[in-house]
Amino acid sequence: MQTTLSIIKPDAVQKGYTEDICTRIKESGLKIISKRQVLLSSEQAEGFYDEHKGKPFFEALINFMTSGPVQVQILEGLDAISKYRSLMGNTNPKKAKPGTLRHDFAEAIDANAVHGSDSLESAAREIAYFFPEH
Ligand code: ATP
Ligand code: MG
Repeated sequence: MQTTLSIIKPDAVQKGYTEDICTRIKESGLKIISKRQVLLSSEQAEGFYDEHKGKPFFEALINFMTSGPVQVQILEGLDAISKYRSLMGNTNPKKAKPGTLRHDFAEAIDANAVHGSDSLESAAREIAYFFPEH
């Protein structure tokens, strides 16, 4: 059993895809064990995406992630980290396969609907970041 952090990003929340995405997550066999909607501050978004500080897309990424509410959630299941990364699809929705969340719910790399932790270490850090009580 693993846990991973999932974020439904501002574009998908704004377009009304939150429930559809949660349904896909549950259909994949993962359980949503905690969830909460939050409007991120710049400081929160910068701390969350600290690994990308200094990259050319960093400022746009922070502006996007603070542009509206997001839904942060903890997913639990067998191989949850890689299972959810597969369900999300390629970072660039134009390269994502049909049936993946990014293909089906997003159009562009700078507004790609969902986030998922990419390793055991990042899952632990990201879950603690948003759910310190967990
Ligand atoms: P996330 O961390 O959001 O789940 P990811 O792990 O698939 O996405 P990362 O490399 O961690 O991809 O990039 C974080 C986010 O930064 C991406 O989701 C995307 O929105 C944005 N991003 C990454 N690369 C680019 C790029 N070349 N141009 C514009 N935006 C980018
Ligand atoms: Mg990432």
